[in-house]
Amino acid sequence: MTTESTAPVTDPTRVLVLNSGSSSVKYQLLDMRDGARLAVGLVERIGEETSRLVHTPLTDGGGEKRERTAPVADHAAALKAVAEELAADGLGLDSPELAAIGHRVVHGGLRFSAPTVIDDDVLAEVERLVPVAPLHNPANITGIRTARALRPDLPQVAVFDTAFHTTMPEYAARYAIDTETADAHRIRRYGFHGTSHAYVSRRVAGLLGKDPSEVNVIVLHLGNGASASAVAGGRCVDTSMGLTPLEGLVMGTRSGDVDPAVVFHLERVAGMSSDEIDVLLNKKSGLVGLCGDNDMREIRRRIDEGDERARLAFDIYIHRLKKYIGAYYAVLGRVDAVAFTAGVGENAAPVREAAVAGLEELGLAVDAGLNAVRSPEPRLISPGYARVAVAVVPTDEELEIAQQTYSLVTSPAH
Ligand code: AMP
Repeated sequence: MTTESTAPVTDPTRVLVLNSGSSSVKYQLLDMRDGARLAVGLVERIGEETSRLVHTPLTDGGGEKRERTAPVADHAAALKAVAEELAADGLGLDSPELAAIGHRVVHGGLRFSAPTVIDDDVLAEVERLVPVAPLHNPANITGIRTARALRPDLPQVAVFDTAFHTTMPEYAARYAIDTETADAHRIRRYGFHGTSHAYVSRRVAGLLGKDPSEVNVIVLHLGNGASASAVAGGRCVDTSMGLTPLEGLVMGTRSGDVDPAVVFHLERVAGMSSDEIDVLLNKKSGLVGLCGDNDMREIRRRIDEGDERARLAFDIYIHRLKKYIGAYYAVLGRVDAVAFTAGVGENAAPVREAAVAGLEELGLAVDAGLNAVRSPEPRLISPGYARVAVAVVPTDEELEIAQQTYSLVTSPAH
């Protein structure tokens, strides 16, 4: 990297956030002086003939969305294409204004309870966690390796989906199975979506005019994947996902909680292999398994037309959600707020209404008028008299990753 001798010397303030999936890379470039997005985009179907890159520059009021449809062979080619698009907007990865790259990493196990500057040792530990996150960590590792090769001199930070949940007490994190077996295979509840739960629980405290340490919050992250968490004074004390993201709520394509004996039953009676059952429970269950659709908009449309399967799927989804609200109410003892977030939580007013219906004795209620308002801003939807605030807080995992990354690389200890 070279800097023109005449260029003004400025502290780098930009962070590139990378979210690398098995066949996609999502990215955002943010300016940390005000959290503004400078560019956003994604490369999808990496490794296929039909790869696509969509890039949107957002500087100076925003530019035209650009699309490339040439095949992208692998993550290295994807990142190179992203770097070219950014460079075309004067935002290249070689810019002295780039402070760091923040990587979303799904599984950080027990070791990583905070964002961590990536070195070979950190990367090796993320690799050791592949057996407990076979679907996610390999793609995250590929993204990190590729970005490090491109900018070996730049600090790169891993922000773990599991980190926020490492404060869970042992009695919430352990399954009641033989301790030696559990420890030998690192079987315990880790939880996921932690970056979102951290961001939303903090924002909801702000909405109530309080410090996060003063409030107890139930966060309901309802996207295609879905999880609930109980957050006491800013610390997670329980969460619905477990060893993997399969446990807990009914999701778009995942079953959430089932009797573990369903697995042996399918093996013994239906002759299914564990890989087939894995696919069944992760990809063909949840809303899609129940009614054939995992998009809540489509399910609501079908319900409005009198479709019974869609109605039952919705009722099963809501019943599970309610059980977790009740459980986490009991875990927390006192609840100041319930916050809805992610695609369904932010947009589906009927889900919010149904999840809270009948819980007036717990101090929970939704104001129909406020619930119907569509807005990208965090907001309260409970009536003034309700003891517990009900909030909609749009999640922003990229901003949270960028903030954690930036504060780590600019901290005096770094
Ligand atoms: P996410 O994983 O957070 O991106 O959420 C994706 C899911 O949000 C989709 O599968 C839909 O079920 C849901 N969703 C998105 N927009 C809406 C909407 N306007 N109304 C209801 N559900 C929505």
